[in-house]
Amino acid sequence: MKIEDVQVIVSSPTRNFVTLKIRTSDGVIGLGDATLNGRELAVASYLRDHIGPLLIARDPSQIEDTWNYLYKGAYWRRGPVTMAAIAAVDMALWDIKGKVAGLPVYQLLGGASREGCLAYTHATGADMPELIDSVHRQLELGYRAIRAQSGVPGLDGVYGIGRSDDVDYEPAGRGARPSEETWDTSAYLRHIPSVFEQLRNQFGHELPLLHDAHHRLTPQQAARLGKDLEPYDLFWLEDVTPAENPSALRLVRQHTTIPLAIGEVFNSIWDAELLLREQLIDFIRCAIVHAGGITHVRKIWSMAELYQVRTGSHGPSDVSPIGLAAALHMGLSAPNFGIQEHMRHQPLVDEVFRHAYRFDDGYLHPGDEPGLGISLDEELATRYPYECAYLPVAHLPDGTVHDW
Ligand SMILES: [Mg+2]
Repeated sequence: MKIEDVQVIVSSPTRNFVTLKIRTSDGVIGLGDATLNGRELAVASYLRDHIGPLLIARDPSQIEDTWNYLYKGAYWRRGPVTMAAIAAVDMALWDIKGKVAGLPVYQLLGGASREGCLAYTHATGADMPELIDSVHRQLELGYRAIRAQSGVPGLDGVYGIGRSDDVDYEPAGRGARPSEETWDTSAYLRHIPSVFEQLRNQFGHELPLLHDAHHRLTPQQAARLGKDLEPYDLFWLEDVTPAENPSALRLVRQHTTIPLAIGEVFNSIWDAELLLREQLIDFIRCAIVHAGGITHVRKIWSMAELYQVRTGSHGPSDVSPIGLAAALHMGLSAPNFGIQEHMRHQPLVDEVFRHAYRFDDGYLHPGDEPGLGISLDEELATRYPYECAYLPVAHLPDGTVHDW
């Protein structure tokens, strides 16, 4: 069996997705997610112009070999564009291998280690009443773990305030330029402990609560936040400092016992190596789609397992159902699975990407269809062409650009 055709499909059924479709000489189709939010067309070009032609006539069963061919063969290693493109190829080849074997991918990865993958979703509110309402809505939908993000008095348009239906991640969405948000770290640090105090008073101490600081703090500020939130027993505190400096978490770790999670912008095991070896984090959050696919993330997770670090895979709505399915097959089988982020996609997205995975009573299961369990309605997808859209940009009250 050989790879006979490689197609890149860029579509925007409510938001942009880049999808790789590989067809073999036996007519088996493999799908991969290559969506890089706000930089979608760069990955599409990388796949269409550079990787696609190299895949023709290769043996689709040689997943490791193809991964190394694309990674080492490019000479220019790592980076989100390259690693998202390689991830898409990798997912598509695992999908093909599963379909050929007649087995869901989680069976190829060693079989199920649990009955389902515990999911958490987002609750957001501009103020406390809105946030409490949002938590209630998510609990009614069956979620058993909640990431809580709150507006900060004096600031509007704070990160984490989603659209009113709690479905989409991006506050504004489309346009030729990103929207701009104002950020004030001091106001945030003064406010956020009272948010979790009120959530604990309202919902009790058993509900797993998570919080994301979105890389906006210095190590000293992060250490203070961790200490201030300790009484509220968070499941994790996420992305406290900019992720490209892993040693920042040494200082944070020295001052707080709050569980730390990071990694959604990582794209290689080398981004995580120091954090894992020095046990500076408790959860590794890299996304299958941005870190080289199943083949590479499996190595990151295996290294994490040695150090009792559990997984908490990135899974907002800009990860397509293909990327989410890959995370669920890995999560069901990994011994050190921790939790899976889950934001429901818009109904139209679920029509374009029909999926075998299911959400039931707080848990996600990848389903038992052969491969990843996703089929693409290409005709429907092409009715929604790419639309320019960016993630927001944040600046401080004096106009200085800050981490978003
Ligand atoms: Mg985050």
